[in-house]
Amino acid sequence: MKIITLEEHVEIAEIKKAVARFLPASREHAYQPPTRQLEDLGAHRLAEMDAAGINVQVLSHTSAGISRIPVAEAIALARAINDQLAETVQSHPDRFAGFATLPTLDPEAAARELERAVTVLGLRGAMIHGQTNNRFLDDPSFRPILEAASALDVPLYLHPDPPSRAVQDAYYAGFDPAVSASFATFGWGWHLDTGIHALRMVLGGVFDRYPSLQLVLGHWGEMIPFYLDRFAQVFTQIARQLQRPVMDYFVQQMYVTPSGMFTLPPFLLVMQVLGAERILYSVDYPFQDAGQAKAFLEHAPISPFDKEKIAHSNAEKLLKLI
Ligand code: CA
Repeated sequence: MKIITLEEHVEIAEIKKAVARFLPASREHAYQPPTRQLEDLGAHRLAEMDAAGINVQVLSHTSAGISRIPVAEAIALARAINDQLAETVQSHPDRFAGFATLPTLDPEAAARELERAVTVLGLRGAMIHGQTNNRFLDDPSFRPILEAASALDVPLYLHPDPPSRAVQDAYYAGFDPAVSASFATFGWGWHLDTGIHALRMVLGGVFDRYPSLQLVLGHWGEMIPFYLDRFAQVFTQIARQLQRPVMDYFVQQMYVTPSGMFTLPPFLLVMQVLGAERILYSVDYPFQDAGQAKAFLEHAPISPFDKEKIAHSNAEKLLKLI
């Protein structure tokens, strides 16, 4: 079974260094990122893909923090990231594809960069890392980005990033610093934040304005599927400005991926709530163990046809890979 994974990260050392000049040292997690694997764009990465049975990785840069640095530098660094990604893809076009990084601080520049990334560099969409200036993508200022993605017919992958400082302090502070920092981010908070981000886009009418836009959510839908029925019922009644029943926005314009969370309960829930047509595959390499990816899907209690959709054919269609 061919496997295409969509949330697979790289990190470019020079970018990390350039961004760090503008940002105060972050409150530290106990966690150490797997830097060597992130920075490898060739032999080692391909060997790990081979060992795990992954045919194609859709590469994206980790959250570089470029939405928090001066805009001129952000624009230049996003270009540098996308150029490097494109070069990596071109070196192994049968093994890699890529999602662009955008300088979201300047939505017009971000839209132009998305167009360049897709039409000139051959990337397949963009990854958006959380909020920009405490604003989510439903904010009208971001319309140029949504407009461009829609016009280019490429998806946006909405990836978690730390919640705003005010939210972190109000909701997640008060524990050992490593506990609070993890609670606010990959232990809970940034998943909740990403789910809210997508819900805000629905309520803000983004999907009515751009009815062909496709949004991808990792981590089995960032908490949304469990409560989707309630959200859809409530807001189909109350959000009168929306043009469709709320559930439609999810089953017509969103995809979810596992991001390496290879356990059955959330997967089966997503199968029942959204269906196999709306599931793509991802490892969240190298933060999660790619070794489980293939076996999880092979042993999943679903039909062989659904496995093929999830493993590769949905992605091939969405990203125009064949
Ligand atoms: Ca990730």
